[in-house]
Amino acid sequence: MYRTHTCGELTLGDSGKKVTLAGWVQRSRDLGGMTFIDLRDRYGITQLVFNMETDPDLCQKARKLGREFVVQAEGIVAERSNKNLKIPTGEIEIIVERIDVLNTSDTPPFTIEENTDGGDELRMKYRYLDLRRQNVRSNIILRHKMAQEVRRYLDGQGFIEVETPVLIKSTPEGARDFVVPSRIHNGEFYALPQSPQTFKQLLMVAGFDKYFQIVKCFRDEDLRADRQPEFTQIDCEMSYIHQDDILNMFEGLARHLFLEVKGLVFEGPFPRIPYDEAMSLYGTDKPDIRFDMRITELTKAVKGLGFALFDDAPYVGAISAPGCAGWSRKQIDELTEFVRRPQIGGKGLVWARVEADGSVKSSVDKYYTADDLANIALMTGSDAGDLILIMAGPGEKTLSALGELRLEMARRLGLRDSSVYAPLWVVDFPLLEWDDETQRYYAKHHPFTAPKPEDIKYMETDPGRVHANAYDLVINGTEIGGGSIRIHDPETQSLMFRTLGFTAEEAQKQFGFLLNAFRYGAPPHGGIAFGFDRWTAIMGGSDTIRDFIAFPKNNQARDVMIDTPSTIKQEQLDELALDIRKKAQQE
Ligand code: ASP
Repeated sequence: MYRTHTCGELTLGDSGKKVTLAGWVQRSRDLGGMTFIDLRDRYGITQLVFNMETDPDLCQKARKLGREFVVQAEGIVAERSNKNLKIPTGEIEIIVERIDVLNTSDTPPFTIEENTDGGDELRMKYRYLDLRRQNVRSNIILRHKMAQEVRRYLDGQGFIEVETPVLIKSTPEGARDFVVPSRIHNGEFYALPQSPQTFKQLLMVAGFDKYFQIVKCFRDEDLRADRQPEFTQIDCEMSYIHQDDILNMFEGLARHLFLEVKGLVFEGPFPRIPYDEAMSLYGTDKPDIRFDMRITELTKAVKGLGFALFDDAPYVGAISAPGCAGWSRKQIDELTEFVRRPQIGGKGLVWARVEADGSVKSSVDKYYTADDLANIALMTGSDAGDLILIMAGPGEKTLSALGELRLEMARRLGLRDSSVYAPLWVVDFPLLEWDDETQRYYAKHHPFTAPKPEDIKYMETDPGRVHANAYDLVINGTEIGGGSIRIHDPETQSLMFRTLGFTAEEAQKQFGFLLNAFRYGAPPHGGIAFGFDRWTAIMGGSDTIRDFIAFPKNNQARDVMIDTPSTIKQEQLDELALDIRKKAQQE
């Protein structure tokens, strides 16, 4: 037996026991007469002690052990004089009687401690060492726990886990596909799934009724902070359901996970906010409702009073920041700079503060009477001590900038506490999205999302006003999952493809298998998919998904540990009948 106990379990109650432990040397301290070693395994750290006076040979041996050596130690559990109450084993130590080196180690390139000295790139290159750090490991264990609880809940609800293929044909989630060349069929390619969307719908046609899968998906999108080319979804689909059935079922999943993983219980149903309302009150379709500070539209109230900026703007709106009336000129200038950042796109900021006596002072006092300003304070629900921040411009853009400003204010006010969770559903998304550049509509979700039956009549005349039974689960301002009720008849599906600019031939070529399947009695169905990496990160109080993936890619989409992507041999290219263009080779 390599070990009688782990490094995380011995306590005062074990005093006097003879034990054998095995693990890695985390740290060794040589205090003259005594040598101490912190021995680490997955379960914790136990202190080993060697006494120069009573056993000089053993102590010498211990002193030679380097960091990350793998050792086996046998000894007696004893009460420590210098206790460390921060760790479960901190009241005991092992008086070692025998120590064997099971393996040596090169000096690791960074310290294996919570606050390591290793930079990101180095830690990714030696990810297996990074994963030895307790905080990183606990993220991966949290992910495991989430996966187990997802399976437990969904299995309990009668869902069947079915695997779907990875070498498939292009799927329509709107991103670029990763493709895999075929050796057997030169010139032909598989695509890696952006999601199992079409397969889960086929499983509904096949009568599986309730499906789920914790599944890898692949999207070749532009690099962005914290985006992974491969990521994991909890993918689900159900038959013979209405939207409410799906929301209730998966609200149940969310509650189960919050309870089992975080010990949290939510009173009452999660709020369900229509998309249009989310946009007008929060300036985004993923509102963070841990705090209020909603947007108030002021367009009409401020028009025609002689302030050109507001008079000419198609939209004027404001947020009211509680208790910020005392903010300095400099702080407000910083906010103005913030909204002017190109990615926010605001032109500027007008402010008004509600003084202690209820009067309102503003940066536009010249144009507005005390009554006008009092009305703005009233409309925005502001009280004495609040700071009103007003923006004007084109509707959508201004709302989105106000939404960003709202988040920024909350950040500055410490209202985005990662230990507080505020889940909600956003419902009634538009079916389509107009793209100015290509002058056509795109599916807001994907082309299998059903239009609301009452809106089908506008599909050909006014597609922009068609809403869908599509919904997102949002937690703390992050979209955690999204889904929809699907089209299940070939006519509506063809109409949808037509609206998206597919010719009948193109639709048949790309999705003929689905259109055909729909001719054999497709049941009404719908589903949802959750971003598993992101949900886990949020449950871990973080917004960095990379920390919750055992072997992630860096933000250049590279795995620097295994060094990929990388070139392949000429023979492989020949077999695949592929030529690499010179330009790409030189880059
Ligand atoms: N397949 C969709 C996605 O990946 C989710 C769904 O509609 O179920 O976004």
